[in-house]
Amino acid sequence: MQQERPYWNMEMEPLLNTPQMAEIQMERLKKQLIKAKARAPFFARMMERNKLDPDRLSGFDEFKEKIDIFTKATWNQLVAECDGDMLKALDQRIACSLDEVSIIATTTGTTGVPSPYAFTRKDLDEFWAEYNARGHWRSGIRAHDRVLHCLALSMVIAGVPGALGFSKSGATVLPVGAEAKTERILRTQGMWKGTVYFGTPSLLEYLIEQAPKVVGKEVKDLGFKILLCAAEPGAGIPEVKAKIEKAYGARMFDTGAGLGFSCECQEYQGMHWVGDDVSYYELVDPDTKQPIPLEDGAKGEMLMTNLNTDALFQMRESAGDIHQVFTEPCKCGKTGFRYKIVGRADDMLKVKGIMVYPTHIKGVINDFVPKVTGELRIILDEPPPRVVPPLKIRVEHAEGLTGVALDALAHEISETMSRRLKINPQIIWAEPGSLERSLYKGKMFEKVYESKGTVKTTP
Ligand SMILES: [Zn+2]
Repeated sequence: MQQERPYWNMEMEPLLNTPQMAEIQMERLKKQLIKAKARAPFFARMMERNKLDPDRLSGFDEFKEKIDIFTKATWNQLVAECDGDMLKALDQRIACSLDEVSIIATTTGTTGVPSPYAFTRKDLDEFWAEYNARGHWRSGIRAHDRVLHCLALSMVIAGVPGALGFSKSGATVLPVGAEAKTERILRTQGMWKGTVYFGTPSLLEYLIEQAPKVVGKEVKDLGFKILLCAAEPGAGIPEVKAKIEKAYGARMFDTGAGLGFSCECQEYQGMHWVGDDVSYYELVDPDTKQPIPLEDGAKGEMLMTNLNTDALFQMRESAGDIHQVFTEPCKCGKTGFRYKIVGRADDMLKVKGIMVYPTHIKGVINDFVPKVTGELRIILDEPPPRVVPPLKIRVEHAEGLTGVALDALAHEISETMSRRLKINPQIIWAEPGSLERSLYKGKMFEKVYESKGTVKTTP
């Protein structure tokens, strides 16, 4: 049999994270800045104000010094300046005309106005489908595969754009969407026999329980070979990955929070950044916003600057994710530095000054399966990040556990969290199956403070 090529893009991928790549990035960055000066008024004004002449750009340091970080707050302010007119605000920050925009997706906007992701056809092809094709190839997805797309489709970037992301790799997309709910998702899979699952790890976990009840099949008999997870942590949590891969008899990968895909190493190595030539990656200190060098083990808030886009015109844009990077060669032998999502700047909790992320708490709880179901809620009496100790965690115990056994288990969980996370939580038990299962992003918080002082009560 003919040996397959290691990379989708044999010209660019071997150069990822090399000095030669830095030269390509600088050349493209200059072009982007020149284009911004001519066509994106928001950035043109910024360059004028900060005295940045793109034709004379001296290097990445000057770029970092003179281009301000673009956050959700920046967007909110731009929209306000445009009297709430989202299209007018978008027009200010893209380097093409609105007529050239082919599709717009947004963030959910739960904490303000939704932030847009606009794409031209060229952006979709040369940026979006290109980096996706690289990751899909590395995950083993080929043109003959069928992808059951189970992420939410409505307006979100992983939805319809996510489906278009398979256009280069050539796999067949079955866009059933999370909105279809369990039964239709399972029946669609039965009819069209997807070989690749694309969705959240929490839906995969949910289907383990549901598939036998709904279609009379164990998930290992559904026909998936590859499970590509996005939108929430999963493959990066060893306990979750082990549980899901065993149940499905399939390999699990994750993608997201940038141009990254996890690799075939059994022990999670983070996601390889597969698109240095199409997006420049940076870390900054989440408090001071000062640049952090990309050294092995460095942690910080991630910023992206796209290098070949017109409408998806991101310049030092932060989505609020905290990453840790690994620059040493990976055991898998593939190129691209790796990053792990440490948490969201928004999800971060501070208990007695200790930073804790919900994913780490879920990791510990999952270690106690089958004594617990793995479902949990972090109870927040006050708005995060500060938590008055003890941190309260509602945990579903397994069927048949009562009294003394539960007390002992609660003690054991607290001890483990104290050792691994340096916090001493209070475990509050919930009956098995009593916490609502979510098809969308795993709901981790129970925000008690939101219902305080209102007449609204939650049943
Ligand atoms: Zn690797």
